[in-house]
Amino acid sequence: MTDLQTVVREIAAEMAARHDRGAVANYIPELARVDAGSFGMVVIDAEGKVHAAGDADTPFSIQSISKVFTLTLALGMVGDRLWRRVGREPSGNPFNSIVQLERECGVPRNPFINAGAIAVTDLILSGHQPREALGEILRFLQFLARDQTIYVDRAVAESEKRTGFRNIALANYMKSFSVIDNPVDFTLGVYFHHCAIAMSCRQLATAGRYLAHAGRNPDSGLSVVSPERARRINALMLTCGHYDGSGEFAYRVGLPGKSGVGGGILAVAPGKASIAVWSPGLDANGNSHLGRVALEMLAKRMGWSIFGTDDA
Ligand code: GLN
Repeated sequence: MTDLQTVVREIAAEMAARHDRGAVANYIPELARVDAGSFGMVVIDAEGKVHAAGDADTPFSIQSISKVFTLTLALGMVGDRLWRRVGREPSGNPFNSIVQLERECGVPRNPFINAGAIAVTDLILSGHQPREALGEILRFLQFLARDQTIYVDRAVAESEKRTGFRNIALANYMKSFSVIDNPVDFTLGVYFHHCAIAMSCRQLATAGRYLAHAGRNPDSGLSVVSPERARRINALMLTCGHYDGSGEFAYRVGLPGKSGVGGGILAVAPGKASIAVWSPGLDANGNSHLGRVALEMLAKRMGWSIFGTDDA
């Protein structure tokens, strides 16, 4: 039998030695300061055993990975009504693209591109003050990760607020189609702050366990979402979780996964494991380069691709 701890350690050692690390995101000035040499990986199996290597406990900016959790929350609040605001198709476009929005009357393609995530954040915000909505999102993550120390990195949020002209444009554009209900700066304030939540691979892999186990946290036995909803969120992660790199990620890794420009990826091997990996250097699509390489190695060695194994 393949020993998971050995596999995780070997992958981390190999990643630490690689020179092709990609480029750290620099359009959010605060993220540009992160050390490109970092690498962390945590795999939590179905029994709850934690397999960790590298910088597994260093908090990093989860950025767009937060969109998996805001989608989960929003579906819990408004149910399938959410799909009147946001589509469920891959965009085939960069995460911050504006062109598709015009053609499609302000309705974003999916909840994981920036426009879609801003629209989802707006749904969570309705009926609340921005501070309450952000608190709700943060507490949800603390609950899932069973860790009250998870925090919003205010410096990252401020940095993005100062320079987030693209997102400001997207939100205003959607507002003109009435896809955003709240004042644009309120919605964006919550969006920038949930993107700026800092978590370690250990916390993130713990938080993602409900997606790997039919909507339930197997430790507490508590149900977070129904099995059907977990399956559907996973489907969206597979098809849209890496923007215009989603096809390549499915081809190489074969697992539902969500990336963030902080260099993190949350991936799910249904029934088997919740996985978090972090390497800040990004590829041309804004997805962690070595994060993807590491997941490809893991999925191959463990035979975890949802599309089948390499064994004859
Ligand atoms: N906060 C980032 C942005 O809106 C999130 C993008 C990402 O992680 N892909 O640009």
